[in-house]
Amino acid sequence: LPRIGVLAVQGDVREHLAALDALGADAVTVRRPAEVESIDGLVIPGGESTVMDKLVRAFDLREPLLRRIAEGMPAYGSCAGMIMLADRIADGRPDQQTLGGLDITVRRNAFGRQVDSFEQDLDYAWRDAGATGTVHAVFIRAPWVEQVGPEVEVLARVSEGAAAGRIVAVRQGNLMATSFHPEVGADRRIHAEFVSIVREHRLQQSGARQSPERE
Ligand code: GLN
Repeated sequence: LPRIGVLAVQGDVREHLAALDALGADAVTVRRPAEVESIDGLVIPGGESTVMDKLVRAFDLREPLLRRIAEGMPAYGSCAGMIMLADRIADGRPDQQTLGGLDITVRRNAFGRQVDSFEQDLDYAWRDAGATGTVHAVFIRAPWVEQVGPEVEVLARVSEGAAAGRIVAVRQGNLMATSFHPEVGADRRIHAEFVSIVREHRLQQSGARQSPERE
């Protein structure tokens, strides 16, 4: 079983654990540096990215997380988690740090105070050949992606309203992020996409470890 950690310093940890568990992953909470070493992939939940950033630093998780992400560990961030995985925050506060990894600029609370939360059906660029159709996306004080680098694949955009066309789901290598919260409903397809990235990465790694002996 792939062991997938959910960063559990703040935010909607339990919903992600339940989604991963339902997909047959070994879902565990991550609060301590040693726990960062034992996982095959990491989910960063929704919550409040400024608080998450402070707690990640206070719990000495920043260095191990940066190292594992740099080494290629798959990670998926939802909402505040997307902000944590972004290389840049538009109009960011000088004291807010992200972990980074995704070559994107996010804008926090981008949809404005008047529309705290909303829901929309979005087209999604599924990588799993079996998955089709739109995704019902729940946005809660969500960021959008304002700019993407050349390596970033855009997976979904807002479909209607004033923000139509705004990028709200991306992937770059083993990192993926959504502005919305797939953990709130019963649809597990987005989590399933991440679990398959983790499984593939694990296979590649065990292949890489074994090949020198085979030769
Ligand atoms: N607005 C929050 C932030 O900036 C994100 C909201 C969420 O995760 N639902 O961190």
